[in-house]
Amino acid sequence: MRHLLSTAGMSPAAAETLLDTAETLKKTLLGREVRKLPTLRGRTVVTLFHENSTRTRVSFEVAGKWMSADVINVSASGSSASKGESLRDTATTLSAAGADLVVVRHPASGAAHRLAGWLSSTNTAVVNAGDGTHEHPTQALLDAATLRERLGTIAGRRIAIVGDVLHSRVARSNAYLLSALGADVVLVAPPTLTPVGAATWAEPGAGGTVTVSHDLDAELPTVDAVMMLRVQAERVIGDVANFFPSVREYSAAYGLDGRRLGLLPEHAVVLHPGPMLRGMEIASTVADSPRAAINDQVRNGVHVRMAVLYHLLAGKDEGA
Ligand code: ASP
Repeated sequence: MRHLLSTAGMSPAAAETLLDTAETLKKTLLGREVRKLPTLRGRTVVTLFHENSTRTRVSFEVAGKWMSADVINVSASGSSASKGESLRDTATTLSAAGADLVVVRHPASGAAHRLAGWLSSTNTAVVNAGDGTHEHPTQALLDAATLRERLGTIAGRRIAIVGDVLHSRVARSNAYLLSALGADVVLVAPPTLTPVGAATWAEPGAGGTVTVSHDLDAELPTVDAVMMLRVQAERVIGDVANFFPSVREYSAAYGLDGRRLGLLPEHAVVLHPGPMLRGMEIASTVADSPRAAINDQVRNGVHVRMAVLYHLLAGKDEGA
């Protein structure tokens, strides 16, 4: 693996290798007083964030540090990007300064792919930590790790992804990955927040399917997991009011509250990539219930990102 830019086209075998590595790392570190492995000593990881982030950024930093890499954080507002430097110049500068790997988050869909292209003649690897409304592959991997942990298997499971699918890179990356791993994914959203062509997101040869629904109550009794999405207002072009009449109506039709939690099968698990807007897409009674695996997602995020850094960086000297 040279870069991690998307889950589109990722083979089930490649995904399972990453998930297995994450699980091994989790078990290795469990109960240890000092959570530090020497694996990436001498490697330099730079996180380059052109958008705000709490979970993703912290967990990449923790992941790098737990594997003894040197981790440097750069945000657009504190870098020369604020002076007008292009993303290309920033990227080549980071590579020339010694970055072995750049974790990039950017509001433009495709930014991580462009960066990987610009760095193709270097040894620097690129990880997409979210590019516009396009993809967020490590989020999908950590969601898959959490589902595997909670449900035992992913193949044959039915998973609802609910809410603002149109502006969500999480929904797209999950639809590709979970259907490749054999799950049937149902995207549940108001028609105005359903991307054109979403029902074709399952890739040819995928073991599972991707379908679209607009009726949350009808879907809930049929699923093994439900993943709630925030309305990503900062990515909306124009006015949010063009997409739904009011927060109250959105919440009534697509929010997961106590009543709807009761519609889920006993074993079903609730996910949310965060940040949550409590009271809008998810009620506090649901977010804080034992059915919610939201903190597990965050915990698994560290191990999944460790696995990604490991597969991209370890053994590079040996030409692996
Ligand atoms: N944290 C996720 C993302 O960066 C989801 C969200 O922002 O709502 O896409």
